[in-house]
Amino acid sequence: MVKVVKFGGSSLASAEQFAKVGDIIRADKSRKYVVPSAPGKRNSKDTKVTDMLYECYALAEADKDFRVQLMKIKDRYDSIINGLKLNVSLEEEFKTISAKFKEKAGADYAASRGEYLNGIIMANYLGYEFVDAAEVIFFDEHGVFDADKTQKVLSKRLENLETAVVPGFYGSNPDGSIRTFSRGGSDITGSIVAKACKASIYENWTDVSGCLVADPRIIDNPKPIKVITYRELRELSYMGASVLHEDAVFPVRKAGIPINIRNTNDPEAEGTMIVDSTCQKADYTITGVAGKKGFVAVSIEKDQMNNEVGFCRKALQAFEENGISIEHMPSGIDTMTVFVHQAEFEGKEQQVMSSLRRLANPDFTELEADLALIAVVGRGMKSQRGTAGRIFSALAHAEINVRMIDQGSSELNIIIGVSNDDFEKAIKAIYDIFVVTRL
Ligand code: ASP
Repeated sequence: MVKVVKFGGSSLASAEQFAKVGDIIRADKSRKYVVPSAPGKRNSKDTKVTDMLYECYALAEADKDFRVQLMKIKDRYDSIINGLKLNVSLEEEFKTISAKFKEKAGADYAASRGEYLNGIIMANYLGYEFVDAAEVIFFDEHGVFDADKTQKVLSKRLENLETAVVPGFYGSNPDGSIRTFSRGGSDITGSIVAKACKASIYENWTDVSGCLVADPRIIDNPKPIKVITYRELRELSYMGASVLHEDAVFPVRKAGIPINIRNTNDPEAEGTMIVDSTCQKADYTITGVAGKKGFVAVSIEKDQMNNEVGFCRKALQAFEENGISIEHMPSGIDTMTVFVHQAEFEGKEQQVMSSLRRLANPDFTELEADLALIAVVGRGMKSQRGTAGRIFSALAHAEINVRMIDQGSSELNIIIGVSNDDFEKAIKAIYDIFVVTRL
């Protein structure tokens, strides 16, 4: 059995955290391939090494003296090396980095050094082989991740290695220069490595005990989710409940490898299993509830709309022409309402409305701002009666006016629109009915 284990920045922020990670890896012999992030924050006022690198490189690019900043970064690594009493020196590495900064090797190169150096330390600490991600993770000439080439080279490389450390977050372009994934991209590397070595599980270790049923900033101590499907996770992450980089799902999902989100500071906790499909019932009718504020509802009315072939297409074209993406679109016989992001819409409001008039010629339009959308997500809802009824009676009891209802055709989620001011109250009411009182 082979497990790929990825550790986030807060799990590797200091020598103490490294020691916890060492214990976790040594506790299970199947944890053979390790993907580290760069050192993260040690406390809330601290700065992540990745951010320090970006700042330091910005100085280099502006031809300013960056030596003090680079020394501060070196100190972060040295304190980990000394704290673990390792016999490794990054002296030469930092000389190279300094020279590359002077040559203006690029912001991606700079940022990638966070993971690269942490990988060297990790490999030394564990006695595992170090594999530079630039040699095994590839992007094509358009900067898009090259899954085929990576799979070929990486799987071959790992085949010959009993154990290895592959730093997260970066790879190389066809010309050999360094490219990073978007922020938080070490999650993606972990997933790619898991696919390449046909791991039986991809463990993603972070500082929370997995996905939670609701946002802990709204609900005190929300219950953890034990098992969630990729589709449920996507619905919830889209609404802001994110523990994982969105693109991390694709490589392992294709390969049928489950992801286990675990907590480095609470290794006994089982965390959350993210799986393709499961017949395991969730603990509650709903798997999770999440939402976002800041939407505008554009209501469009036209008499006999249902008889006018192409009306919806013309109306939607008004949004498309102005580059506005659409969130939800509940409709009636003579009405349709289009939900859009307020921040995106505000600057283009009048252009969209005049396009709408020109293209679809509605009888009446109305705009309503400051709305929030809440997604109640659960694979279990399909087979249960009365879920929607319970949601709406809970909201009515909490004196919340529901402005929109949209049940996805897969019956995996129910989307509810409320005013921004009612957002937190609504989440609490829904959490209460399904999780606390379980009525
Ligand atoms: N260190 C990178 C970041 O801060 C990548 C990662 O941690 O996943 O975004």
